[in-house]
Amino acid sequence: MIAVLGSANMDLVATVDRAPGRGETVTGRDFTTVPGGKGANQALAAARAGGDVAFLGAVGDDDFGRRITALLAGAGIDVSGLAVSDRPTGTAHITVDATSDNSIVVVPGANGTVTELTDAHRAAVDAADLLMLQLELPLVLVTQAARYARERGVRVVLTPAPAVPLPAELLTAVDVLVPNEHEAALLAGVADPVEAAHALAGRGGDVVVTLGARGALRVSGAATTQVPAFEVEAVDTTAAGDTFAGVLAVGLAEGLEWPDALRRASAAAALSVQRPGASSSMPDRAEIDAFLAEG
Ligand code: AMP
Repeated sequence: MIAVLGSANMDLVATVDRAPGRGETVTGRDFTTVPGGKGANQALAAARAGGDVAFLGAVGDDDFGRRITALLAGAGIDVSGLAVSDRPTGTAHITVDATSDNSIVVVPGANGTVTELTDAHRAAVDAADLLMLQLELPLVLVTQAARYARERGVRVVLTPAPAVPLPAELLTAVDVLVPNEHEAALLAGVADPVEAAHALAGRGGDVVVTLGARGALRVSGAATTQVPAFEVEAVDTTAAGDTFAGVLAVGLAEGLEWPDALRRASAAAALSVQRPGASSSMPDRAEIDAFLAEG
């Protein structure tokens, strides 16, 4: 079983010709609400790929929270550890302009109330093969969870996004660190992804740096492995990284060897970039199998 302790948000997306300046009002073209948050996205990607997943976090006692919970539960995810908080469900207020540039305000809301490991969190981690974490919940909680999992021999996979300086007590409890190239550069303080990955691997554990259309690379000890991307026509790369991480976690939890787990993660991410949206673009297990059989 995979436990995902992370954020759940409703993304409120307005498309505009150009973003408003200070004090200005502009008329938008379109509006959509899309469930998101890196935690919920990774949980969904893992469940679609056939993983047995429990999602831990918090939503508000509101329509957004109920919609997110229904989406996760509908995908077969155990939501018994998803608390209902007195704060509103987290929201991301996203404005996308005609050139696809965006500006985003994130209000953590209920996500910000997950500040301590609860008995429900501990029970889920105890039952898990692997714990997935990101950095959209309070850092103290993420650190506490990683250390708890490490003490119990449960593998910890951390996506360090958004990139913030990481305390050593967190980094040393992580088995697999999965940054994108920007996060890797920020965390390591060097721009080159190979150098950054080696610097981050120096703490022990594996580092998988995702490189968008250029694929990914894995550093384990002194060894570097390139993971090619599949050549596809990308229309929307939203949540490609979360799809990659979620499906990688399924492979590792099922005991696949690294090259096979990475290949499945790349295939799932390649499928997701060919479709618009986040959760709506994530492939299921049969699609991943079919895509790999073709390739
Ligand atoms: P990123 O978060 O952008 O680094 O992407 C995560 C993973 O998604 C990459 O490691 C690739 O496997 C896959 N991916 C992202 N963009 C593309 C693309 N344009 N074509 C194929 N695969 C992609």
